[in-house]
Amino acid sequence: MHTSYQLLIDGVWRDGSDGTKVPVINPATEEAFAEVSWGTTEDASLALDAAQKAMTSEWAEWSPTRRGRFLFSVAATVRRNIVELSALFCQEHGKPPHQAAGELEDAARYLEYFGGWADKLTGMTIDLGRGQLDYVLREPLGVTVHIAPWNYPLDIFCRSVAPALAAGNTCVVKPAEEISLVTLALARLFQEEGLPAGVLNIIPGPGAVLGKYLTEDPRVRGIVFTGSVETGRKVLEAAARNITPVISMELGGKAPSLVFVNDATELDGPAGGAAGAIAWNAGQSCGQRSRWYVRRDLYEPFIERVVERIRSLKVGPATEAGVSLGPLVSKKQYDKVMSYIQIGMDEGARLVAGGGRPEGLGDKGYFVAPTVFADCNNSMRIVREEIFGPVITVIPADGLDEALALANDNAFGLSSEIWTSDITTAHTVASRLDVGHVTINGSAAFGFEVPFGGVKHSGLGREGGPEAILAYTRLKNVWVNLK
Ligand code: NDP
Repeated sequence: MHTSYQLLIDGVWRDGSDGTKVPVINPATEEAFAEVSWGTTEDASLALDAAQKAMTSEWAEWSPTRRGRFLFSVAATVRRNIVELSALFCQEHGKPPHQAAGELEDAARYLEYFGGWADKLTGMTIDLGRGQLDYVLREPLGVTVHIAPWNYPLDIFCRSVAPALAAGNTCVVKPAEEISLVTLALARLFQEEGLPAGVLNIIPGPGAVLGKYLTEDPRVRGIVFTGSVETGRKVLEAAARNITPVISMELGGKAPSLVFVNDATELDGPAGGAAGAIAWNAGQSCGQRSRWYVRRDLYEPFIERVVERIRSLKVGPATEAGVSLGPLVSKKQYDKVMSYIQIGMDEGARLVAGGGRPEGLGDKGYFVAPTVFADCNNSMRIVREEIFGPVITVIPADGLDEALALANDNAFGLSSEIWTSDITTAHTVASRLDVGHVTINGSAAFGFEVPFGGVKHSGLGREGGPEAILAYTRLKNVWVNLK
């Protein structure tokens, strides 16, 4: 018998109103191992009611200090339960254990970071002259809706739910269809730590129905969306109906990495970075460095070095020891990545590694071999579009100016990277990249203390850092006649 997971509405675990339950598939075996109830618009409406009611009940009495301490206690519980949660995460998502545990640690860090901000939000007074008092209150927005994708479900859940709760809001969360169990399991910890009923509600189910309903509803006072550009446009249109604030919108990416080291002896760092871009989360990352622009005289040595690195990557199910990359999350994603590999070959790119299913893994599981395309150019779809899999493209560049122009020539503008030992080059390139996030000689700082988000089609708003939590508040000005 499969374990069954339910919706969380108003502090109660329950089935959806029409009784729909769907199987949850392990992407490494293609077998169902659990089932999950899906919500209906009726359930979504109940969740919004509960979240609205919670804004004026026990939750409203919690001081900011208490809210902060609560988030700290959930973070500690996440760490205490990391083994069980990681096992479920590996089964549902396919991530290797070290990556699943790493994401749970990230989730705990978001809870702590924003928990620390809860009692530091302030208003202000404004001097309008004698006989008048003017002050500004910083208040929570109210009911916030959070729509999440499947690639980093726990990281993304905590990076928006934590600031929302720290600032005193209530939440209705719609996880991705493919991955909702880990979100429900995490939400259970919030309930067990004593969160009042209705403050956090989770409704798994189809985004086309539930996401649409939630983003169009006038009870909602803030929307946080992470997902594709196509869905992001629909969410913006839905939000426009009631002029609902969009707190942040984290859409896709097609991050460039510029390799401008001095000579071939310095290629180990960037080659390791390229292998990491393929392996981490099996390339299903919005910040994946997927376009590598390499100084022309280092181009072939770089490709050789990357291919060497890739040979040591082990592809397999999360249950096997030493796996660097697991399966893709779903059949849909597997088919999409495979179709891009075919597009790359049809476009005339040179396949130097991978290009299909890895050998020795049979025909079950959504596994894709680490894939590198060389001799690419910016007019190819594999260079322009987000593949979201273990695939990178490599392109030669004649000098930094050309590399920068090529890097900026893309609809996305999320993250980017430069490899150089020249300090002037590093900072000049950082200032000229048309993106929201730049890393130099490595890849880190994607959240918690620092603002993360994009420009152009990559979205709006920032997650992480002090400004992020302010977006979950609104200002109210109060004027007093003292005469
Ligand atoms: P989708 O846009 O397909 O889905 C995202 C979420 O939106 C899902 O929960 C989905 O539900 C829901 N949804 C679907 N239709 C609607 C609708 N009409 N209204 C409201 N919500 C809806 O993206 P993916 O899940 O495929 O995620 C991958 C994308 O997310 C990539 O483009 C990636 O770059 C981006 N991403 C960006 C990040 C960032 O920080 N910039 C981080 C992670 C991912 P359902 O699952 O039921 O379809």
